[in-house]
Amino acid sequence: MTRDNIAAIATAAGAAGVAVIRLSGDSPLKIAEKMFRPAGRTPVAEFEPYRMYPGEIAAEDFSDFGLCVYFRAPRSFTGEDVVEFHTHGGQKIAQGVLNKAVSLGARPAGPGEFTRRAFINGKLSLASAEGLIDMINSRSSAEVRAGYSLYRERLTGLVSAMQDGLSAALAQIDADMDFPEEGLEETSRAAVKETLAVTLKEVRALLGTFKAGSRVKNGVKVGIVGKPNTGKSSLLNALLQYDKAIVSDCPGTTRDVVEGSLEIRGVRFYISDTAGIRDSADRIESMGVELSKRVLKESDVLLFVIDGADVTEEDKAVQKLISGMNVITVVNKTDKGGVSFAGADLYVSALTGENVESVKEALFARTVGAGTDTSGDFLCEERHYAALLRAEKSLNAALETVRSFPLDIAETDIREAWSALGEITGKTASEEIIEQIFSRFCVGK
Ligand code: GDP
Repeated sequence: MTRDNIAAIATAAGAAGVAVIRLSGDSPLKIAEKMFRPAGRTPVAEFEPYRMYPGEIAAEDFSDFGLCVYFRAPRSFTGEDVVEFHTHGGQKIAQGVLNKAVSLGARPAGPGEFTRRAFINGKLSLASAEGLIDMINSRSSAEVRAGYSLYRERLTGLVSAMQDGLSAALAQIDADMDFPEEGLEETSRAAVKETLAVTLKEVRALLGTFKAGSRVKNGVKVGIVGKPNTGKSSLLNALLQYDKAIVSDCPGTTRDVVEGSLEIRGVRFYISDTAGIRDSADRIESMGVELSKRVLKESDVLLFVIDGADVTEEDKAVQKLISGMNVITVVNKTDKGGVSFAGADLYVSALTGENVESVKEALFARTVGAGTDTSGDFLCEERHYAALLRAEKSLNAALETVRSFPLDIAETDIREAWSALGEITGKTASEEIIEQIFSRFCVGK
């Protein structure tokens, strides 16, 4: 298949140390010949692959001195011939070099086109491409780890092995149909049943990691609630360790919603302090409105803050309002002396920082799961979860059938399970899904 030469700036816009302009296609070296003058003796046409050559890079109406490297197909990111120019990292410089390559016949690449070519050329699976985009967009280290694991084909490996098992089961069923006189059906039935049961168990184990995985990917939303002056902003500050919220002595002066985020064991937690309840007469009522409107809908967990030295009916009213939700009840201001509150989960002092770390632990335990190892493998893509749910359903149906009907009746369900698994790796993904995934990429990747 012939591939036109595409070109794009691979690095982010703006002033930087270095910018990389990448070309991929049938003959990027031919373009490089016309715009790169090597400082050494080796002409561009004779460049050794994977070696950096210094020289002059022609841009539109200026030049830069940088490096040129050639990656020979199929040992390149896209699986095609690739040339990279490493210039000084100015926007104008990179754009000028790109424009020059385009004037010499390269076509500006669309979003994700390099990765798409890598997928088409069999260099990576669809799940791996998704891992790559996840890594690039990561806001926490656990998210990077999860993206990296996907990118490095961990999930594809697991899923492909399941598919291989199902293929073997299908072959066995076919063999039975072709040679019924051998009377092997019962032996086959046991083997097929075993394969289906094992695969189902593996699918379920993966499905079971999704809750933690989606927390890793999307982060956790935390709402801080409580009557005014209990120390919500102070607790937010203590958690974030800087003065993001404005702490004040005067009840009701707290601003609207103050937000910040922090990483707990690699997972990003987004915390909103929901004050903004100013009318003291209708405070509880308006708090109810506020809570039901945003926080309760959006929060995965609530921190309910109580002033341990000033527990009133108002606290109990708030407690009632949020009962049944995922609430961590934090009694604050322990530095003021012996305080207690029925149903308290933690006693802290936002002022001295006492026990604030345990708030972080509690947040993690309540949402991601206390013992969760965020360096492990998770299912974190909604799309993979949906595909595995479909596989689970088909496997269940197949297993039911295999128990009491002729084996070949289960074939359709087994094929469907196989196909659902293939959507993850991309073997059976529709053009539409592929389109959707690569549209999430930026130009240059
Ligand atoms: P909010 O209205 O719930 O956000 O409360 P603030 O964070 O604005 O705090 C109200 C007041 O309580 C401020 O004067 C804080 O300095 C004080 N405060 C907050 N946390 C503590 C604490 O742990 N101990 C003591 N002694 N005072 C606190």
